[in-house]
Amino acid sequence: MTAVSASGGRPPQPPPRVAVIGGGLAGITAAIALAESGADVTLLEARPRLGGATCSFNRDGLVIDTGQHVFLGCCTAYRGLLAKLGMTGHAPLQRRFDVTVLAPGGRRARLRRTALPGPLHMLPALGRYPFLSLAERLRVSRPALAMRRVDPADPAVDQQRFGDWLAAHGQAERARRALWDLFSVSALNIAGDDASLALAATVVKTGLLGKNNAADIGVAALPLGELHGDAAATLLAKLGAQVTLGAKVSSVQPGDGYLVRLAQGAGELAADAVVLAVPHEKAAPLIPPGTLPDAAVAGWAGLGASPIVNVHVIYDRPVTDLAFAAAIDSPVQWVFDRTRISGMDRPPQQYLAISLSAADAYADVPAARLREQFVPALAELLPAARDARVTEFFVTRERRATFRQAPGSGALRPRTATRRPGLVLAGAWTDTGWPDTMEGAVRSGLAAAVELRRTVLTASTIGERQ
Ligand SMILES: Cc1cc2nc3c(=O)[nH]c(=O)nc-3n(C[C@H](O)[C@H](O)[C@H](O)COP(=O)(O)OP(=O)(O)OC[C@H]3O[C@@H](n4cnc5c(N)ncnc54)[C@H](O)[C@@H]3O)c2cc1C
Repeated sequence: MTAVSASGGRPPQPPPRVAVIGGGLAGITAAIALAESGADVTLLEARPRLGGATCSFNRDGLVIDTGQHVFLGCCTAYRGLLAKLGMTGHAPLQRRFDVTVLAPGGRRARLRRTALPGPLHMLPALGRYPFLSLAERLRVSRPALAMRRVDPADPAVDQQRFGDWLAAHGQAERARRALWDLFSVSALNIAGDDASLALAATVVKTGLLGKNNAADIGVAALPLGELHGDAAATLLAKLGAQVTLGAKVSSVQPGDGYLVRLAQGAGELAADAVVLAVPHEKAAPLIPPGTLPDAAVAGWAGLGASPIVNVHVIYDRPVTDLAFAAAIDSPVQWVFDRTRISGMDRPPQQYLAISLSAADAYADVPAARLREQFVPALAELLPAARDARVTEFFVTRERRATFRQAPGSGALRPRTATRRPGLVLAGAWTDTGWPDTMEGAVRSGLAAAVELRRTVLTASTIGERQ
């Protein structure tokens, strides 16, 4: 059917213009979905590259990710984005959840799921977990069973601390530190006890109590800049979307549609609709007055920020054959082998990155002091590192890595739609029900596209305009 016949003889209208502000995973996802729906999309990103918090940089010939990222089998929306970007093969998932847990003195355990249906799939591994006593292991089933009755959408659940809830279900200090922290601290980027029970429940129910492959871990085999930013730029160009880098938006003015202004008078753009896909502290000053209740926008400040620090250590020889591992009784939380992915072609060196979530205590510590702490800590966990020489050591710090996923944060997260038709919010901090993760970001971008399709880009409008 031609555009003219669809509009009953009226001349064809140009497609609706959508400005997507922010080129992180949320903005990328929204831009792709809207361009696929026939909108005339312009993606405005302040930095000189796409990808937002998932980015890479070059250091002496090595490609470094500012922060190690992993995802899980249950991250269906994120995996959908990878598929669209043609990147599924470059972000492989484990065949079965399998995590080696290291402890000082070279002790180690392996948490590996079976093929049994969830939640039985983890029981054999937990039953053998050597870092808990038999009594502690037996008690782990109590919170696992009780969690099934916790509703993450219940506002009262959002007010509770995960640690208090675990303690009330028989999880003493040792079990919380040696087992629950392994997953909750990295998933929620907050000290395990301090996390919102609602967000912890989403992680536990989806990842551990759901399908048996839900927690299988995925790790990119390409630097994040290539996996997301570069691939998205290629796809968006193919879809006819305009991507403008180095474009920092300074205001969004409603009128007949929206006028989006760039900082320092660098230009302006008229749009029929806007997706505001920037972090909450950047969204608050950009959102036009009256778009949401003032108290709601002021409340976003309460989401705060939580840092992630990555400690990068290059050895003169291989010190482990593990692709990644978790650690207990150590300042190291998770450690990843980055040798191949960084493009290192100086064998036999090995490049490890320690990922430190909830890193408030480390965010401002000089690299030299972190070296004094973490090089011996790695040697405690990996005996081969004791004889190896550290050839390079550096630190990357993301001070506002995620919002602070504490009790009460759920009530502060806004929905996609606002009071203004055509102005929608996206970002991993919005009310996705998910923690501040890649999965949350992609879900928020999809929700923004769905909302604009429903309101601004209705099928009839698109039919008329094409
Ligand atoms: C070190 C680190 C490790 C992490 N590890 C994991 C992990 O293992 N697994 C996981 O799932 N998640 C992880 N996360 C979280 C995940 O990266 C984020 O949740 C997700 O990438 C957020 O995407 P976003 O699009 O919502 O926001 P962002 O990625 O922050 O994107 C927002 C974009 O908006 C742009 N912007 C801001 N202001 C303006 C403006 N005025 N005009 C134009 N553009 C603007 C910014 O430059 C940015 O590119 C980690 C985060 C960090 C920092």
